[in-house]
Amino acid sequence: MTYRVTVDADVCISSGKCVADEPEVFRFDDDEVAELVPGAPDLADRRLVEVARNCPSGAIQVFDGDTEIDVL
Ligand code: SF4
Repeated sequence: MTYRVTVDADVCISSGKCVADEPEVFRFDDDEVAELVPGAPDLADRRLVEVARNCPSGAIQVFDGDTEIDVL
């Protein structure tokens, strides 16, 4: 199964790391909080984990089905 990713808007500190790393998947909303781009291409599971790990605030969560992956 392909991993699924979410962004917790309450935790995002607007560092822009995910937007810079994968601009086709992450973007800023009007409040400069990261969100997923609708219809974004699927990233490889390993890449999703990498992007989530690089988020300085831990706002990006990765799920395998209903189970959250520990990216650290
Ligand atoms: S890397 Fe994390 S803190 Fe930075 S913009 Fe993305 S979700 Fe927000």
